[in-house]
Amino acid sequence: MGEKNQGVRGRFAPTPSGRMHLGNAFAALVAWLSARAAGGEMVLRIEDLDPRAANRERAEALIEDLRWLGLDWDEGPYWQSERGEAYADAIARLDAAGLTYPCFCSRAELHAASAPHASDGTPIYAGTCRGLSADEVARRTAQRPPATRLRVPNAADPAGTIEFLDLRYGTNREVLASECGDFLVRRSDGVVAYQLAVVVDDALMGVTQVVRGRDLLGSCARQIYLAGLLGFDAPQYGHVPLLVAPDGRRLAKREKDLDLGALRERGVSAERVVGTLAAAAGLAEPGCEATPTELVSAFSWSRLWREDIVVNEALLAALTKPRT
Ligand code: GLU
Repeated sequence: MGEKNQGVRGRFAPTPSGRMHLGNAFAALVAWLSARAAGGEMVLRIEDLDPRAANRERAEALIEDLRWLGLDWDEGPYWQSERGEAYADAIARLDAAGLTYPCFCSRAELHAASAPHASDGTPIYAGTCRGLSADEVARRTAQRPPATRLRVPNAADPAGTIEFLDLRYGTNREVLASECGDFLVRRSDGVVAYQLAVVVDDALMGVTQVVRGRDLLGSCARQIYLAGLLGFDAPQYGHVPLLVAPDGRRLAKREKDLDLGALRERGVSAERVVGTLAAAAGLAEPGCEATPTELVSAFSWSRLWREDIVVNEALLAALTKPRT
């Protein structure tokens, strides 16, 4: 059982790019259980930063799906699309400290065949625009607006090695220079980068615990580094396994029959979804049907499965079989 700790403040941070699917529901459930088991609070933030994902109707559906699952929150929803000022202020502080520089590289240049890639698929930046002269910057800015990159310490500098303890995946260590390189804080179209927005928001919203899918484990080092530069305390991180298809592929958003809209239409109950996901992750007995509240007292990070959860026939049957 989690220790009583009033200081825990977790968050839901969904991106409204589609209907909530089982993997998102699972991560949201664990985030909520972890906070509530510690007597803590939850904040809801809609990550609609990218205009392509900023769809109010989809966001409302996500919010309604969280409620339907039996998950609640103490503050929010906050909308990233309304928080531009906070992000601009943080970038201005990084600019003033001389930590950023304009980058004119095109996507094609960045993704050149020879470029090594970070674990999340982003090319490791080669530093092409790091040393441009002021004249060169002015000349190129007149042609097209640049993106903004954050300078990371070189590999030999200990300040660029980030070590942290994940609640489920233990000690992680990343050398920023060799594992991601100088990274974007703002895209050339002016949209603030996810890494920057998430750090600013978690800090300003008082979030102390970040629980999310383990696909974002590789973002922690960048986020911890940024938090440090901005004078924020980094939150505690807990990553959860992903839900994958039997062939190991991530459950794609296109597997529409597994989103909550489709499951709800089929008459699957929230207790069935919650119980089945919890059982598949080691947090409840097989065949469990439960509300999130009923799972709080038995929750612990050490019970949580580390391996990805395969959405196989058995899991689907547990989810959809008629009540006996
Ligand atoms: N908005 C991200 C997503 O929906 C999550 C970001 C985070 O938890 O840091 O995948």
